[in-house]
Amino acid sequence: MLGTLKDSYGRQIRDLRVSVTDRCNFRCFYCLPHGEPPMAPKEQMLTFEEIERAVEIFASLGVNKIRLTGGEPMLRRDIEKLVAKIKNIEGVEDLALTTNGYFLSERAQNLKDAGLDRITISLDSLRPETFKRMTGTDVLDRVLEGIYAAKRAGLAPIKVNSVIVRGHNDDEIVEMARFAREHNLAMRFIEFMPLDSGHDWSRAMVVSGREIRERINECFPLVAKAVERGSETASRFRFADGARGEIGIIASVTEPFCGACSRIRLTADGQIRTCLFSKVEHSLRDVMRSDASRDEIISYIHGVVWRKEKGHNIGAPTFIQPQRTMSFIGG
Ligand code: SAM
Ligand code: SF4
Repeated sequence: MLGTLKDSYGRQIRDLRVSVTDRCNFRCFYCLPHGEPPMAPKEQMLTFEEIERAVEIFASLGVNKIRLTGGEPMLRRDIEKLVAKIKNIEGVEDLALTTNGYFLSERAQNLKDAGLDRITISLDSLRPETFKRMTGTDVLDRVLEGIYAAKRAGLAPIKVNSVIVRGHNDDEIVEMARFAREHNLAMRFIEFMPLDSGHDWSRAMVVSGREIRERINECFPLVAKAVERGSETASRFRFADGARGEIGIIASVTEPFCGACSRIRLTADGQIRTCLFSKVEHSLRDVMRSDASRDEIISYIHGVVWRKEKGHNIGAPTFIQPQRTMSFIGG
């Protein structure tokens, strides 16, 4: 019998994001502009067996959506093996992975064969120069090949994440929407959040979800999708003219959706984070590596989740950017 995991605001936790590595081969300026900090000792990182055990426990508590992320999750050797193990866990209904797409052209089919249900690929620009400036790598064509390979492998519906930053790629919003129509993709336009290691975020760089919506709407009228939003991060739209593809807008900064949040995160070194912007972490790794029984681990998780933050408070005078960046926390 599956249990339930609730916080003190009555929100049920259904969605676990697992960062499988804090390493990355890209240098996105909104995430890891100066590269990773010195590598933590390997023994602090969760092994595949530990991740599998943690996911099994969370699934027994009602978590049914798992997303593997990072850092770049495909840098973790044999990630396909972890996918296969997690897919077999009772209660896991939806297994997804977020990637920068670098390794996808060769491995999309392996991921599908291992049991991956869905994939999200990051793509901030369709222009080689802008792509290079934003990600620190000159591999736009390779990422596009990865998107096409994921489609061929049947990982549809494919989501494409694009962080929109004023003065960098906000002039491409309509082009990206056109790309979604042409290739039948679910584009996700994301507001820039203060989670960059360079601490360069400023409110002026944020292009609001509303502005993104309006700009697309001028060229391609949008209709809100008649779907229950629930705890979803994106508000979703279809094209009024019936074209394929979908637009999603993740307005975490200007239209926070914390009230319906069902997510928690597990970092690569085994820390539970109850919010992207948490100021504290909880070492599930230490508890799992102690002689704690399964019941004791469960009771620890209940206690941690109970204390999930009400919301992120970006914009409030008291807001403090977390020490860890998106690449560490797992986006
Ligand atoms: N490396 C993989 C990738 O880039 O898809 C997975 C990890 S990455 C941290 C997950 C998502 O977080 C990406 O889509 C990325 O664009 C997004 N992201 C990273 N830093 C962000 C920021 N400061 N604000 C908003 N989104 C961010
Ligand atoms: Fe790497 Fe993803 Fe962060 Fe870019 S957003 S630096 S690809 S972890």
